[in-house]
Amino acid sequence: MLLDRRTFTAASAALLAGCTTVGTGRRYAGCTPLPPVKVDQSRVIRTVAGLRPYRRSGFVVRREQLGEKALVHNYGHGGGGITLSWGSSKLAAELGLSGHSGPVAVIGAGVMGLSTARLVQEAGFPVTIYTAALPPDTTSNIAGGQFHPAYVFSDDAVTPELMAQFTRALDYSWRRFQIMVGDDYGVRWLPTYVETDSPEEKAIETFPPINRMLTAAEHPFPWKSTLRYDTMYVETGRYLRQMERDVRLAGGRIEVRRFATPADIASLPEGLVFNCTGLGSRELFGDSDLVPVRGQLAILEPQPEVRYAALGDFGYMFPRADGILLGGTFERGEWDPTPQPADIARIVASQKRFFDAFRCTA
Ligand SMILES: Cc1cc2nc3c(=O)[nH]c(=O)nc-3n(C[C@H](O)[C@H](O)[C@H](O)COP(=O)(O)OP(=O)(O)OC[C@H]3O[C@@H](n4cnc5c(N)ncnc54)[C@H](O)[C@@H]3O)c2cc1C
Repeated sequence: MLLDRRTFTAASAALLAGCTTVGTGRRYAGCTPLPPVKVDQSRVIRTVAGLRPYRRSGFVVRREQLGEKALVHNYGHGGGGITLSWGSSKLAAELGLSGHSGPVAVIGAGVMGLSTARLVQEAGFPVTIYTAALPPDTTSNIAGGQFHPAYVFSDDAVTPELMAQFTRALDYSWRRFQIMVGDDYGVRWLPTYVETDSPEEKAIETFPPINRMLTAAEHPFPWKSTLRYDTMYVETGRYLRQMERDVRLAGGRIEVRRFATPADIASLPEGLVFNCTGLGSRELFGDSDLVPVRGQLAILEPQPEVRYAALGDFGYMFPRADGILLGGTFERGEWDPTPQPADIARIVASQKRFFDAFRCTA
């Protein structure tokens, strides 16, 4: 199932083992050409790594009492936190705001904290964000920004209740991001090509709604079966900067502060607190189900003519105005948030083999 991005887990392992294959595509003039990415170590402008806040049983949206306060959790979105941000925050806001009056606190200024704060403001409540770090120093800033709920939970660990929560969150996010398309927020639609050997991947017929299998003559990729879907891509740096501005413009306050224990939170003046601390919830609230899944990216000089994304055993490529993102790894339990030069070299080599093997001649 694409939601778990199983192919990517395999790709990640293969990349780290240095044994990715890209097929044997013969070059010919019949198929639709796409401009290949110019992959070369000399074109790498930066490298990044980040820790996805992953829970096998899925993300937490839950209300509890913390002394006199209501505390609403909104964390643990794995590799799909940008995608789910508006929807998950909408569910959290509904849980918290119903029957509430007075100012509201949000802890965390990643994508989840900022979207929660905006929804609280839209509902007419004053908000203060308390956070250890602001953009650009959050995991959310590292994200590739594809609108796709990848690596959010493990199929064998989710309950029907989680699936219902997931479906509602995805639906609201899908509609909310559509009205943010454009340069202000750095959100745009792109065709996306996915390597697949398995027709079962067609099972995502309802999401994204625009998807179909391509014939070999319709694509230049050096693999047999290609699924094409259209989805949105978020330039996360620009998006989060704009979201932070939106919070401030609407009168929101932001205070840099790290909380060590729930008792620290209990001392806040606000009667309602949203916990949007991502991976920080493991230590702050003792959630040992929450684990890091490290992702590493090599970013190449921008290539504006590349207006499609591609994913397969070779890794993934998302083109953005701030660079061409080459991923990626899915390294569960790895806590070091720094790029590893040997892994980055393997990502670049794998992507180079892939783009050099494009079959179409222009
Ligand atoms: C390489 C990579 C690629 C990705 N690609 C995609 C993608 O294409 N699409 C997608 O949808 N998702 C993607 N993701 C996943 C996405 O980045 C995360 O799911 C999302 O950023 C989680 O957001 P968050 O706001 O919960 O956490 P964060 O961004 O980590 O924000 C947490 C906030 O809480 C604060 N905080 C933490 N602990 C404390 C504390 N004790 N006290 C006070 N403040 C605290 C932090 O300072 C920070 O401000 C990717 C992730 C990685 C690493």
